[in-house]
Amino acid sequence: MIKGFKTQIYPNKEQQEKIIRFCNASRFAYNWAIAIEQDNYKNGGKFISGYNLTKMFTQFKKQEGNEWLKEISGRALKVAILNAGQSYENFFKGRAKYPNFKSKKRSKKSCATHEGTTIIEKKRIRCEKLGWIPSHKHNIPIGENIKYYNHKLSFDGINFWFSVSVELEDYKNTKPKTESVGIDLGIKTLATCSNGIICKKPNIKKEQKKLKRLKKRASKRYQKMIDYSKQTKIKFVKLEKSKNLLKLEKQILKQYQKINNKLTTNIHTFTKSLINLNPQAIVIEDLDVNGMRKNRHLSKSINEAKFYETRRQLVYKCNWYGINLVIADRWYPSSKTCSNCGCIKEKLSLSERIYVCEDCGLIIDRDLNASINLRNLAM
Ligand SMILES: [Zn+2]
Repeated sequence: MIKGFKTQIYPNKEQQEKIIRFCNASRFAYNWAIAIEQDNYKNGGKFISGYNLTKMFTQFKKQEGNEWLKEISGRALKVAILNAGQSYENFFKGRAKYPNFKSKKRSKKSCATHEGTTIIEKKRIRCEKLGWIPSHKHNIPIGENIKYYNHKLSFDGINFWFSVSVELEDYKNTKPKTESVGIDLGIKTLATCSNGIICKKPNIKKEQKKLKRLKKRASKRYQKMIDYSKQTKIKFVKLEKSKNLLKLEKQILKQYQKINNKLTTNIHTFTKSLINLNPQAIVIEDLDVNGMRKNRHLSKSINEAKFYETRRQLVYKCNWYGINLVIADRWYPSSKTCSNCGCIKEKLSLSERIYVCEDCGLIIDRDLNASINLRNLAM
């Protein structure tokens, strides 16, 4: 099995600047390739393979004005172009949405780094064109016969990271299997399981309050800049942000990360406790998260519930430990069905927290009822 590892690294100032430059160049190369594909498509072509794109890029690098690309990690550029080629191909074969350009503001700062020249040690990692970078004490397996893939560097706005995929021997699950588990996902109680385990949302009120305060302070400063821009007719984007504002922006980002970490760790604890039971199967619903987000009143809670994260964790953890993961059909009426007699209610409003069956007289918590129905799908 392939397992992903990620560790924080502590590059010096010069290395930091280089990594950010590699990430930006990687985005540049990706967008360059997408633009080439778009032109080709407009002119009636289908798609250009990643391999051919890299050949074209080698020519492009030689053109005048593109000398700066020579200082960039070649691997970072190549992988970005291959990725662009792959996303275009996926689009043509109906496997993915139309690939967009990566925006400077919104896209993640990350780039590939050369496998062959990377050396991983306990407390430091050597990367192409960067040299040794101290790292956090990590648990990436080290050894001569270990196969590594997808070496990547990234920057989240505060910290720098190194990630890699490692081929490991398949885990041999010898523990006895227990009863299957159905999971009903929700907003207040993030997950209700058919075996009674629940996953509550962690308390993030304190962190959110602080975030709100910081955002308010920043918005005052933005307003000042907007006013100044109106007065002087200098474009807003050309104004330099004050040191205080830059500091505030960093604090805001940090606060977002703090909240995000708290939510993700909570889900890890939950999924781990389920996996430890070693159930025959785990059944979850296939939620239409994007559709649900359209409800403005719920969109924030839906983001915080992290349904995708729960599913992502269950998918890879079940895969590692040989547990069967069943994803129920989106239209399966898990909430409306009586888990005792199987009759289906026509209407069940969101406010009805207790399920009362008129046919068999069952009275049960709504979410628990849904989770039992999901579990029954596995049988
Ligand atoms: Zn019933």
